[in-house]
Amino acid sequence: KIMIELTDAYKIYSSAENEVRAIDGINLKVREGEYISIVGPSGSGKSTCMNIIGCLDVLTSGTYILNGKDVSDMSRDELATIRNRTLGFIFQQYNLISKLNVYENVELPLLYSGMKKEQRDERIKSVLEKVGLTDRAKHYPAQLSGGQQQRVSIARALAGNPPLILADEPTGALDSKTGREIMAAIKILNREGTTIVVITHDMSIAQEAPRIVRFYDGKIISDETSKEVSAQ
Ligand code: ADP
Ligand code: ADP
Repeated sequence: KIMIELTDAYKIYSSAENEVRAIDGINLKVREGEYISIVGPSGSGKSTCMNIIGCLDVLTSGTYILNGKDVSDMSRDELATIRNRTLGFIFQQYNLISKLNVYENVELPLLYSGMKKEQRDERIKSVLEKVGLTDRAKHYPAQLSGGQQQRVSIARALAGNPPLILADEPTGALDSKTGREIMAAIKILNREGTTIVVITHDMSIAQEAPRIVRFYDGKIISDETSKEVSAQ
């Protein structure tokens, strides 16, 4: 089954003076359960691609099928619904709410889901356990290390049990040891069946994934799966 399918995809920003092809005719298929990284220098179109894959923005032309649904022409509201059901986001800057404690931050995506209080409670405890933060539930973001904050954001991304997780420079704000721990956590999620897309400019982070898609100037210039994995 295919999770992500972009066909003849273009995202063009036009102004009176010029036209920028941020995504310039790409084709990309990601199967359910894959772990890929999208890597490229600044300005190559990674963030634009993340916004498209994450249903935060729409293509100028081409089609995007996500988890079997054509989302190419959906309205903002429809896209928000798809996001809530299908996607978990992990950001470089964690995007935690400083006035909410760890438990409440993780609860946020579940508040939109219509899930009952007891069910939410069970779910939050289970994802906090998964990221090793059970004893930090009542702490506020400012009381946690960077690595712990990123683990809260992983727990939040997992809370709704989304089939697809998008991570944008997930280790960008962390020291290298903590960064490796976060990448290890991402690998475990993938082993458990979640499809993962990591977006990064850092080749050493990209190489954690068995499949590496390289962007340059809005185009995919290579798409390689490591031998070890393709031989399985
Ligand atoms: P990356 O994430 O790889 O740095 P981006 O997707 O941010 O690349 O940008 C790709 C290209 O699109 C760049 O040339 C950038 O200047 C341009 N771009 C991105 N967003 C906008 C926008 N909102 N308006 C105009 N141009 C944009
Ligand atoms: P709604 O209006 O339905 O609440 P939002 O646009 O506020 O939808 O956000 C829905 C989801 O998309 C949230 O998980 C949020 O973190 C994420 N999100 C919103 N804006 C951005 C953005 N610019 N970049 C990345 N993720 C975003």
